[in-house]
Amino acid sequence: MIVIGGGLAGLAAGVALAESGWRVRLFEQRPFLGGRATSYVLPDGEHVDNCQHVTLGCCTNLADFYKRVGSADKIKFFDRLFFLDPEGRRGEMQAGMLPAPFHMTGSFAAFAPLTLLDKLSIARAMLDILGAKGHPADLEENGGVSMLEWLRRRGQTQGAIERFWRVVLVSALDEELDRTDARFGVDVFWKAFLSNRTGYRMGVPAVPLANLYDGCKSEIERRGGEVNLRASVRGLKIENGEIAAVRFDEGKEENADAYVFAVPHTALAELLPESVKQSDPSLANLDKIKVSPITGVHFWFDRQVMKEPFVTLLDTRTQWIFNKTELYEDINGRANKTDGGQYLQLVVSASYELLPKSRQEIIDLCLSEVRHALPTAREAQLVKATVIKEAAATFSPEPGVDRWRPKQETSVRGLFLAGDWTATGWPATMEGAVRSGYLAAEAVLRVAGAPRKFLQPDLEPDGFVAMWLGKSHDAALRGEN
Ligand SMILES: Cc1cc2nc3c(=O)[nH]c(=O)nc-3n(C[C@H](O)[C@H](O)[C@H](O)COP(=O)(O)OP(=O)(O)OC[C@H]3O[C@@H](n4cnc5c(N)ncnc54)[C@H](O)[C@@H]3O)c2cc1C
Repeated sequence: MIVIGGGLAGLAAGVALAESGWRVRLFEQRPFLGGRATSYVLPDGEHVDNCQHVTLGCCTNLADFYKRVGSADKIKFFDRLFFLDPEGRRGEMQAGMLPAPFHMTGSFAAFAPLTLLDKLSIARAMLDILGAKGHPADLEENGGVSMLEWLRRRGQTQGAIERFWRVVLVSALDEELDRTDARFGVDVFWKAFLSNRTGYRMGVPAVPLANLYDGCKSEIERRGGEVNLRASVRGLKIENGEIAAVRFDEGKEENADAYVFAVPHTALAELLPESVKQSDPSLANLDKIKVSPITGVHFWFDRQVMKEPFVTLLDTRTQWIFNKTELYEDINGRANKTDGGQYLQLVVSASYELLPKSRQEIIDLCLSEVRHALPTAREAQLVKATVIKEAAATFSPEPGVDRWRPKQETSVRGLFLAGDWTATGWPATMEGAVRSGYLAAEAVLRVAGAPRKFLQPDLEPDGFVAMWLGKSHDAALRGEN
């Protein structure tokens, strides 16, 4: 078995297949694992994530994967989410005593950055999602409706759109509301905020991202496989319509019974010969899947400028500020070598407008927003800064995109696919990548006649939602899944 690509999709497929008794040979072109969800060491020895990554309680497959590879305790979960608007009004979101779907009602009612009218319009849309059990009828119209259109149909106020829907969804889906399929947007609220009390809990890695994959290599090797870094697949050798081998530099070739290509769709489109693309219609449309950018900005201050572990900014270009010093410190139990200073990581999703800007322009813009939001940062010295632009951070979840996403099993014998962009039903996330890897492993095992399940179910609805969906009253109130 050959797996090409050492991102989360390839790692999840590789680990699952190794566990099922296959000898997995994984080839990754870069010198480290993790793909888009990884970290680097800067020349001065500082570890930086290519961008802050977060998970949510509803990401059940990612949680399963971290457990399998021994990284579950490197993720710190938070029940409380903090928001800050330019006028200095703070808001918090946290589950209260009430059962789902009313668990957020208390903090939502007290949420200062939204007006009463905004809240009423949001509540109406939420009831609509609830009433339709997460699947409002108009989602599939004309092959997909945009989230903005869906919200307008429900009479959302401008404040609700800008300070609530946009804030949550642009971060979660990395796209503007007018370019997002409402199916993905509605799903975020159904799975993370409505159907289960814990779906919204935010998990933040307490170590640099690359450290999360330490257990993957050993898991694959322990079962007789190998993980090859700096090993870039350059092409495919096709014989009689089948893959006979994959080609590397210097004419080297490797072959196997089955191949899981877990590379980005843009890379796959370049690797696959035209004859293979034409033999399976689902491979012919990879170029229709567009990409969207994320920019990460890293600031090191000479002193502490924020206390919260993270905060969401409203009405600014900067969407999130993560307090990396505190996030790393908590689990390691030691200061994150900042000599009394503080390391912050800022995230700007769907950062189309930042792409043409210079590093210095981005630093100036984000620094002024940070100084506006955090008064102590106004006096503090910025010791150093780094900007990481990821132009193709995720596939763009635009209306109808699902029709271009191929399944993990193809009609080409021995060719399987994994990647957040394949058909998982999920947007481009770590959860989606792991799901695709598990689905690819399941497909390989099914074709080999030894089926096994790896895909984990979604969080079970609980509270009143469970009752509403037909679970027994007692089990629901006891919180049993
Ligand atoms: C800036 C940024 C922020 C993000 N934030 C979040 C977040 O907060 N939460 C979240 O859930 N998701 C987030 N994501 C999305 C998440 O990172 C991805 O969905 C996920 O990591 C994709 O995994 P993958 O394995 O499908 O693809 P990738 O991670 O891209 O892995 C593909 C791998 O294939 C390798 N490869 C490519 N070509 C070849 C070749 N020819 N030979 C050998 N190897 C090859 C690549 O080097 C790479 O390692 C973010 C992404 C970015 C970029």
